[in-house]
Amino acid sequence: MTMLFFMNSEFANLQENILLANHTTFRLGGPARYFVAVKNNEELVGAVKYAKANSWPFFILGGGSNLLVSDEGFNGLVIKMQSDGLSVVLRSEATKDQKEGDKLKIDCDAGVPFGRVIMETLKSGYSGAEWGFGIPGTIGGAICGNAGRLGQAMAQVVESVTALDDNLEVKNLSKNECEFGYRESRFKKTKEIIILAVLVFEKKKSAMIEAVLNEAKAVVKHSPPYPSAGCVFKNYVASSNNDPLLVGHHELAERVREGKLGVGWLIDQCGLKGRQIGGAKIWEGHANYIVNVGGAKAQDVLALIKLVKEGVRAKYRIELEEEIRRVGNF
Ligand SMILES: Cc1cc2nc3c(=O)[nH]c(=O)nc-3n(C[C@H](O)[C@H](O)[C@H](O)COP(=O)(O)OP(=O)(O)OC[C@H]3O[C@@H](n4cnc5c(N)ncnc54)[C@H](O)[C@@H]3O)c2cc1C
Repeated sequence: MTMLFFMNSEFANLQENILLANHTTFRLGGPARYFVAVKNNEELVGAVKYAKANSWPFFILGGGSNLLVSDEGFNGLVIKMQSDGLSVVLRSEATKDQKEGDKLKIDCDAGVPFGRVIMETLKSGYSGAEWGFGIPGTIGGAICGNAGRLGQAMAQVVESVTALDDNLEVKNLSKNECEFGYRESRFKKTKEIIILAVLVFEKKKSAMIEAVLNEAKAVVKHSPPYPSAGCVFKNYVASSNNDPLLVGHHELAERVREGKLGVGWLIDQCGLKGRQIGGAKIWEGHANYIVNVGGAKAQDVLALIKLVKEGVRAKYRIELEEEIRRVGNF
């Protein structure tokens, strides 16, 4: 590992050939040609400018918990968001006698771990993020992919987002302008970099918060005991009762929850649970997880993704959409 130092304080600590397997929850993937961890906006802007000046592609890395990095790695600059400023502001006038419906506002940098925000809100008895207990990664990553679970999602607590556009201009975006959808946001399309988010939470009865938290804990308890990147595919969105999949397979209708059909179950019906290629395996516990049982290559994961897509296409005539993001050349 080489560490290059620049006199320009905006962009110190540039590193070369950093193995991305060490920066992803999947624990696989080749090296980043260049890598820098940025702790504030000045460093972020410096890094992007440096990449542009050298005509390097760049990639914004949060917690690396939703990524499949290619075995060849990333031939450019990986910028890891480590800015972690967080300030909590009670919106209510009454700070001592908080009551149901009071709001709590949190301003947080994109590099703040989602888990830290969850603990902060739980500590003060505010609701809005307890469903996310145990979801790894940063606030920036959670907003980019509109992370969600138990019928709830990040978008519900976002008031506004501050982002850097391609010209490094700062933009303030309202929740509507973020264009949230199921595991979607404008940031997936525009490549704008989220630098700060204003999140709003609501005071609720502790029993209500506890109930959702316990559901989230149950999900965590049933998570794979191996490295993964979470669910590989988005669940199937059943448009209506006339959805072609439901018309062709009546037995599936009763499995639709809030307009979505769990893809893990469909994969299981194709007999693919437990299939292993190299060090990658379709987890027996929940078939929408591909896990790294030891020494998995991105190519192994990719081969399983292909197998699943083909299997589900053949049986159900639908195309699965990947939830995980690919990084590098495949
Ligand atoms: C065990 C496990 C359980 C999981 N459970 C869930 C779950 O229940 N629900 C769920 O939705 N997800 C889940 N995930 C997936 C993942 O944790 C979430 O998607 C998480 O929000 C990703 O955040 P991250 O910081 O790790 O993003 P990364 O994986 O680092 O990046 C994901 C994408 O976001 C972009 N990005 C990151 N930061 C920024 C930024 N500041 N500005 C612009 N773009 C940015 C990246 O460029 C990339 O395209 C799980 C993952 C694991 C390993």
